[in-house]
Amino acid sequence: MATILVTNDDGVGSPGLLALKQGLSRLGHVVVLAPERNWSASSHAKTMHKPLRLAQVTLADGSAAYSSSGSPTDCVALAAGGVLGMKPDLVVSGINAGYNLGIDVTYSGTVACAMEATIQGMPGIAVSSVAVPEEGVELAAIHAKAAAVACVLAAEVLEKGLPEGTLLNVNVPGIAPERVRGVHMTRMGHRRYPTGALIRRHDPSGRPYYWLGGEAPVDQLDDGTDVGAVAAGFVSVTPVTLDMTDYTFLRELAAWTTAASVV
Ligand code: MN
Repeated sequence: MATILVTNDDGVGSPGLLALKQGLSRLGHVVVLAPERNWSASSHAKTMHKPLRLAQVTLADGSAAYSSSGSPTDCVALAAGGVLGMKPDLVVSGINAGYNLGIDVTYSGTVACAMEATIQGMPGIAVSSVAVPEEGVELAAIHAKAAAVACVLAAEVLEKGLPEGTLLNVNVPGIAPERVRGVHMTRMGHRRYPTGALIRRHDPSGRPYYWLGGEAPVDQLDDGTDVGAVAAGFVSVTPVTLDMTDYTFLRELAAWTTAASVV
């Protein structure tokens, strides 16, 4: 029986983590090791200058889990290092409270968990959906759908494996489960956050402080992309590779004689 590590970046108390754990329990032996607090948008942070602590915690369904004082990817590295007494066969992170589409992949702690899994020699799957579903739909129903999708994908990944350096980024639309139209295998699309958005305020002693983020992104809903698929009501599955080389531009860059002749 396969051992599956379930982790996330929202923290060990997140309802999405519990739903994913329960869903994957149909497939194998699930162990949970997740951050003790919310690390959303922490990307691939690694703790290098202080020790990490592990704690045994109880999830909302009464089952046992572990939390760590480290980042999401620290949790994966700890598990890969054998802190739970074995090395998992598969790592699934989520269900994140918010999509990870397009450029979100570079900010996401959820996706970074799957990246770390890949680096540590385990296949990794990141699963994301919404924090607030469309009106009239229970978050639990969205989570159940996402967990069921994750379960099927995880079974196939356990059977076939993934290419070296490749993970799966899965996004499940936050609509009524019966309205989900199917699964599309996609490429990363374009999601643009308003640039230059900055809120400047003053604290009670008159010193300025700033807020970044929080503004809704603008999506380019191209066919074949993750943003396009989710907007059209499909589950999106994107193979993401850790090799970020721009091979097309590399050919042009190689002809940059000025820069190439610096030394
Ligand atoms: Mn998150």
